[in-house]
Amino acid sequence: MIEILNPTLLSRARDTGALVADILQTLKSRSTVGTSLLDIDRWTKTMIAEAGALSCYVDYEPSFGRGPFGHYICTAVNDAVLHGRPYDYTLADGDLLTLDLAVSKGGVAADAAISFIVGDTKPPESVAMISATERALAAGIAAAGPGVRVGDISHAIGTVLSEAGYPINTEFGGHGIGSTMHQDPHVPNTGRPGRGYKLRPGLLLALEPWVMADTARLVTDADGWTLRSATGCRTAHSEHTIAITDDGAEILTLPKQARP
Ligand code: MG
Repeated sequence: MIEILNPTLLSRARDTGALVADILQTLKSRSTVGTSLLDIDRWTKTMIAEAGALSCYVDYEPSFGRGPFGHYICTAVNDAVLHGRPYDYTLADGDLLTLDLAVSKGGVAADAAISFIVGDTKPPESVAMISATERALAAGIAAAGPGVRVGDISHAIGTVLSEAGYPINTEFGGHGIGSTMHQDPHVPNTGRPGRGYKLRPGLLLALEPWVMADTARLVTDADGWTLRSATGCRTAHSEHTIAITDDGAEILTLPKQARP
């Protein structure tokens, strides 16, 4: 199903998007050497409740996961990249951490992810990988607008990732979002321009380029959820929820300092 939001719902989507962005920035500032992934999960639960919002994750039970997720945020460290289930791990200097969060408020969901390095040691390959996903996300957003096709966005994202030298996995990618977290259309992280669904104003998309340093193959962790790189290499992931507008796209999950 593809949803087109009316102005009332769009305004609620802005509120949800700002909430997701603000929670992620608070969590980033608190995620230091010695922080447990379970602390991050607990803080997220509290902030969602305080905002009067609902977790999209805690009861989530899709075909690709084992049972309900049971947590409030995805925390993926180093070789973990998607659906990282929080566990009793203490962050160390130089860890590459991805936080991926979706919540629903006022009946509208928003979804965003940030990758960053914990502590003072900044491994250059991690910095480069995070930068590539951020640039790919920016390119995908720049390509989005009314009349544009999904393939145009996929192509824009994939071009940046490929030129940066990363293999691209197409099993998981961006998606429509609205009254629920995952909707059509699927937005692969590579594709052919001019193909696919034609975007309309009022459509919300979550765009989410992610890469693994030297492989496109995922393996599932023993926890039944966390997806890791098959080679153990590091990974990165950047995501925003955007709204297609009359003349382009609006980012709904910008951090406070970047909002207009
Ligand atoms: Mg998403």
